[in-house]
Amino acid sequence: MGLIAATRAASLGASVIVLEAGAGPLSPYAYEVDTREAPGYRGATEALGFGLGGSTQLWGGQLWPWIASELSPRPWLGMAGWDYDFDDLRRSYGHVADILGLRSAQRALVGGSVETPRGTSTPGFELRESTWLGWRHRNLGKTLGRDLRRAEAVKVLTGHPVQSLKVENGTVVGLVGAGCHEIAADHYFLAAGTLGNVALLNAVARSEGATVGAGFMDHLSVRTAELEVLDWDAYQEYEAPRYEGNSLFTKRYAASSDLQQSLGVPGVLAQWETELPATSPLLRARELLRSMQRGGGGRPEQLGSLLPGLTAELRGLVGARLRHRRYVPEEAGIYLSINVEQLPTQSKRLAAEGGVVNMKWAVERADLNAARRTTESFLDAHDLSRSGLRVKRILDEYVVQDTYHLMGGTRLSSDPARGVVTPNLRHHQVSNLSVLGASVFPTGGLANPTFTAGAMAVAAVDSYMGGVS
Ligand SMILES: Cc1cc2nc3c(=O)[nH]c(=O)nc-3n(C[C@H](O)[C@H](O)[C@H](O)COP(=O)(O)OP(=O)(O)OC[C@H]3O[C@@H](n4cnc5c(N)ncnc54)[C@H](O)[C@@H]3O)c2cc1C
Repeated sequence: MGLIAATRAASLGASVIVLEAGAGPLSPYAYEVDTREAPGYRGATEALGFGLGGSTQLWGGQLWPWIASELSPRPWLGMAGWDYDFDDLRRSYGHVADILGLRSAQRALVGGSVETPRGTSTPGFELRESTWLGWRHRNLGKTLGRDLRRAEAVKVLTGHPVQSLKVENGTVVGLVGAGCHEIAADHYFLAAGTLGNVALLNAVARSEGATVGAGFMDHLSVRTAELEVLDWDAYQEYEAPRYEGNSLFTKRYAASSDLQQSLGVPGVLAQWETELPATSPLLRARELLRSMQRGGGGRPEQLGSLLPGLTAELRGLVGARLRHRRYVPEEAGIYLSINVEQLPTQSKRLAAEGGVVNMKWAVERADLNAARRTTESFLDAHDLSRSGLRVKRILDEYVVQDTYHLMGGTRLSSDPARGVVTPNLRHHQVSNLSVLGASVFPTGGLANPTFTAGAMAVAAVDSYMGGVS
């Protein structure tokens, strides 16, 4: 979020200093995370990317523009809605799309246009799509970071961990940390990731700050059924990810608010997961691309050396591409996966003390019930035979994983008793401090948070810049 905010602020004429703790790509994480009360939480161990670009050195680059209902109250769960104007978000999505260099087909998703191909519908579910940043554009340290380093009004200082914020009379007056003492600014935007934001704000807001660390949550990906493909052409046509030009789109079936209410569940969506066999040359190609994203070596030309192994796949790849579909080989396993919004319950929270972040996290019975009800409802409503699919088996034991979406902990609310930051993302007690990132989310929406957190970061910069000359 820091790089998106810095890009926006610089484009509006501000002088910006970016302080990044990591000295190089994927530097060791600066906080110790105590996960004894977060059994199996992958986000605590695999999602922490220090270094310019943060976790975008690791992420999938899947962009999911939210729609207004993702911010709405859910009275059936006793949950308030966001204290945030969806129109601000919609406007700012456009700015993030510019900053990320999205193509026009991808930008068309912003604002939540619902695509229902002719002759198809799944009662209770809306077919919505996510889109993906291309491999070469995913690591924002390499794209936005590089551009910021070249910008005259911007200084990018890596290897500068901020240990604490020096706050006097409700104002940040300086920073504590190696190389940070001399740095002073009119305004500070804290964008240290969910754990980093909580770690740094815990000390700042301690007197008023009962809410720092509360409301921590993620989404869950719950694999509930295995499918059998009876007609690959129909599967490719109706369900496989599609290309428009070079932009990839993935289909997701999002439960409508009415269905959520009648099932008594939070945000849920159904999507297909494909699993390639371990021997697949496509897997090797993807690993090479992932290594390039992480700065771990590999060049696009090396893909050429994988070609002989891919010969058998090439016909399928080319055939799928001609039909504007992403290739899914016939050996791939196809699964139904339910994405479940975790609720910010008491059984999840973050607490920070002396450089250690204590994490409490759990998969709750309600999460699994939501996945079960959604599976039943989706399989009942969706025309599987049109898509060339048949249920092979409902899994006795669901495969449940967090999705590396660390959200909450410094929630927004206009009421200082309920939130750490205002709807403009200003700290309630510290006037020249804004907090960016998914840590400000009061609830998690249906899926991927980063496009939305980026839009909110842009809106926060705009709101600050609108008030200064
Ligand atoms: C494997 C994986 C896949 C993912 N896939 C997706 C996806 O497809 N779509 C999606 O929307 N999201 C995805 N995410 C989540 C996404 O990566 C995060 O939501 C997003 O990157 C968070 O951005 P951030 O800037 O808030 O935090 P971070 O990316 O964590 O960045 C925080 C930065 O602050 C620096 N920092 C921390 N503390 C300090 C300090 N004290 N002083 C100075 N600097 C500090 C860190 O080094 C880091 O560079 C994925 C994550 C992972 C790990």
